[in-house]
Amino acid sequence: MGGGVSSFSPEGDGSAKVHWTEHEKMPGIDDLRARLRFRPGRISLDDKRMALLHVRSLAALRRELVDSFGADAACGLLTRMGYASGSEDAETARTLGKERSFVDAFLSGPQMHMLEGIVVVEPLRVELDVEKGHYYGEFLWMDSIEVDCHLLHHGLSAEPVCWMQVGYASGYTTVFLGRPILYREVECRGAGAKNCRIVGRPVEAWEDALDDLRHFRPETFVNRAPRRDDLPIDLAPPPSGVKPEPTARHGTDEMVGLSSGFNAASHLLRKVADTDATVLFLGETGVGKELFARKLHAIGARAGGQFVAVNCAAIPENLVEAELFGVEKGAYTGAVASRPGRFERAHGGTLFLDEVGTLAHAAQAKLLRALQTGEIERVGSTQTREVSVRVVAATNEDLKRNVAEGRFRRDLFYRLNVFPIHVPPLRERRDDLPLLMRYFLDKFARRHRRHVTGFTERAIHALLDYDYPGNIRELENMIERAVILSADGSALDVHQLFSDSGMPRSRGLSIDDAGALRPARSPLEEQLSSAIKSEGIDIDALEAAALRMALDHAGGNRHHAAKSIGLTYRQLAYRLKAK
Ligand code: ZN
Repeated sequence: MGGGVSSFSPEGDGSAKVHWTEHEKMPGIDDLRARLRFRPGRISLDDKRMALLHVRSLAALRRELVDSFGADAACGLLTRMGYASGSEDAETARTLGKERSFVDAFLSGPQMHMLEGIVVVEPLRVELDVEKGHYYGEFLWMDSIEVDCHLLHHGLSAEPVCWMQVGYASGYTTVFLGRPILYREVECRGAGAKNCRIVGRPVEAWEDALDDLRHFRPETFVNRAPRRDDLPIDLAPPPSGVKPEPTARHGTDEMVGLSSGFNAASHLLRKVADTDATVLFLGETGVGKELFARKLHAIGARAGGQFVAVNCAAIPENLVEAELFGVEKGAYTGAVASRPGRFERAHGGTLFLDEVGTLAHAAQAKLLRALQTGEIERVGSTQTREVSVRVVAATNEDLKRNVAEGRFRRDLFYRLNVFPIHVPPLRERRDDLPLLMRYFLDKFARRHRRHVTGFTERAIHALLDYDYPGNIRELENMIERAVILSADGSALDVHQLFSDSGMPRSRGLSIDDAGALRPARSPLEEQLSSAIKSEGIDIDALEAAALRMALDHAGGNRHHAAKSIGLTYRQLAYRLKAK
């Protein structure tokens, strides 16, 4: 059937539905080709730097990975490499939305894959309904570069071998659609078929996705069988017949991500988890440092003990010591009973000191002593108590600068900074946005008992473009709010996600009267708009506003401004003078 229905209307009703079959025409590729540029020392696709590699060198690397880590781990590494590449291209594809229809913009992914010389792609079937979360994609791959690499060193395989390319397809579609999509290679030339064929569906639509998903887990090459709880929870479908548990309790949140920044932090976390080393988490507010600390505890040797969290900034300065180290009855007015502090309560477990940079000097000294000796004294007591506590700290401050400025003890800094882990801000791990969006959507839909199908196309655009100064916490809050506001059986839309105060202004967007996303208006544009709306239109005022607006947009350059409104430079200069 020649359906070919596609509506790409981020400025319309926000819906995007596609039913595309192989009988339909592929879009031309000239617009993409124009974005591929070769200059000496630099090849780029759009604004992203690319590389030309020899297939033989790629094949050698691939073989070395297989030989060093085994086929399974090599498959994981290459899958993630492909995923990163696909998600880069999805970003480029999204910028084509203005020039191409939705389905044609989507098909630019397979076309870029071809342009990059990886594989010849023939789409067989693409069905998608963004709001309903339905996706089915089937593609034929011919002349796959990975098959060539594989055959060069290993000969025919019993299993499909296009690992990196399957990762690419998954990363591309996931980031383009803002929803985790998993591809599987159902036929492969490397395994004796005539061509390769892949099928992609949402993760939850595959019944046995776990086996594929372990390749998206960071560090498959750590020498240990993957466990179910290693997977980011949003990617791991519930075991059949088991309803996912409501995740109301704080500690059950999971770390979600596959971006390289996130993987790097997770890698360090796993390395240090089974030691007793002090770990210092660095990163902006809202990036999830406490989640990392909890995970560290959960996978470490002290998992059987308590995880005790203290937000140092939330405790009044005069109470910090009593809170951390405990207090003896009568130590000060109001200390009516003896009680243990957080150190004692964390005995045998982990003590997490959040915002450790805010500790006052006296508390810093006591903390240092506790770290050095493994002993504490309650306030008002001279009896020392031994505690076995792993201290994990976090800060969003520049502790080195605090040390230089005398606000933080140098010796304590070195004591805490044994193993720093930088948790990247959300804007540096954009690849993870679709996973996080999905994760929080599911979490809050369960918690608030709302049936939400997903996000509208324009909501996905807005969420992927936003800068998140408040990081993951901000995204989490936005989605929780939107879920609460949502109507049953609907998809989350822009106006539910972005409250007036929290509009995505960082990229110059705003919502117009119809609820569609538009570039934010400047004060001049507002002026222009009200000049048009007022009853008697003041043509002079209108023209003056238009001219100033054009100048404003051109950054004051009169040549550009004149060109943009179809005037010559002289005409513009004349009119400006007349005003
Ligand atoms: Zn293949």
